[in-house]
Amino acid sequence: MTVPIEVVWDRARSELRLAWSTGADTVLDGAYLRRWCPCAACQGHSGHVRFLSALADTQITGVAEVGAYALNLTFADGHDSGIYSWTWLRRLDPSGTLGGPKSGVFVRGSFHPAPT
Ligand SMILES: [Zn+2]
Repeated sequence: MTVPIEVVWDRARSELRLAWSTGADTVLDGAYLRRWCPCAACQGHSGHVRFLSALADTQITGVAEVGAYALNLTFADGHDSGIYSWTWLRRLDPSGTLGGPKSGVFVRGSFHPAPT
């Protein structure tokens, strides 16, 4: 498992910045993370995680560590049940600054783009 060596919550910009042991950096903004919330309340129990494009923009209002493997994020819309594992955060922005998918679905970890 890839693990971040540093996690910075930039509250003013509503961004998470993660520096990985591989040398890569990931920047994820709050509205983007909210739309990829993997929790059962947002996604059901199908094993699929889809991009929730209909949600309004929101900001991160709290960040808490969950064990050594994840972050629990709280958002300004009141949502606080999303557990964002390191693997999930890495998957959301594999290539760098806001380069991750903004539509589509992950099925058991494999990304499937939305049909065009
Ligand atoms: Zn959720």
